Amino acid sequence: MNLKAAGIILSKAVWRERDLRATLLLRRGQQVTAIFYGGQGGGPKSKASGLDLGHSIDLELSAKAGQELWTALEWKERWAAQEIRHHWPSFCLMCFILEILASVAPHGEWTEDEGEEGLTGAASEFKDLFVVGSNALYYLEQALKRGMTDFLTWHWAVFLGKLLLALGLAPRFTHCCFCQRPLANLVARWLPAEGGFSCAECLGQTLDGQNDLWHRYWQQWAFAKYGDLCQKVAVLPPHGEELSNYFFYQTDLRPEHCKSWPLLLAAGLGLHCR
Ligand SMILES: [Zn+2]
Repeated sequence: MNLKAAGIILSKAVWRERDLRATLLLRRGQQVTAIFYGGQGGGPKSKASGLDLGHSIDLELSAKAGQELWTALEWKERWAAQEIRHHWPSFCLMCFILEILASVAPHGEWTEDEGEEGLTGAASEFKDLFVVGSNALYYLEQALKRGMTDFLTWHWAVFLGKLLLALGLAPRFTHCCFCQRPLANLVARWLPAEGGFSCAECLGQTLDGQNDLWHRYWQQWAFAKYGDLCQKVAVLPPHGEELSNYFFYQTDLRPEHCKSWPLLLAAGLGLHCR
């Protein structure tokens, strides 16, 4: 069975002499691993294959029922970043984005029963993963083209925020998690362990604008377009490990199992976990 698809290259490895084995996040939100024959490029004309990390490609895939490994019959580049690989912190951020997408996206496997549709596990709740991943890489590249390299932690945070929203794992920010009062015009503090925000009264504390930053950011991430968020960059709360801690807890991932996490911290991005 053949499938025409678009996908982002999440990881790749050399396969035999001239081939490549790459894992892609497809537009429908699933990941598949395929062999690209001649995918290392080269040949008499030293032709580049266009198969690099973070590249977006159109391709035709072929698989046999029950096989996990697909074969890429044809592929064509849709979009490729130029600047990211020349800026080390941004490259680390891209590796993190791709690794996290690979950790949360379900694996697509073809079975006969699925007929034309082909892939199983095509759950609609994952279709936004591709959009979040594409936007994260595209707007990171745009920021570098404009010479904006100071706000990469903001790009990191917007990616995690949009990803958690896409996965349905964002904290509830509209109402106080204790008294259920609407928080639209109130100052509220994020309590990641409670899965939401608390008003000052329920906390028995006076809260200022600094305490309210995460509350405002979550509202922005939920309602603003990805591109607009990357135009109006902001600074994250100091010592604000809440986002990292919340993300790893909600997704059941662990920072120590995440290969790109130490790279990200060494590059001065991301926020430490407790
Ligand atoms: Zn309350």
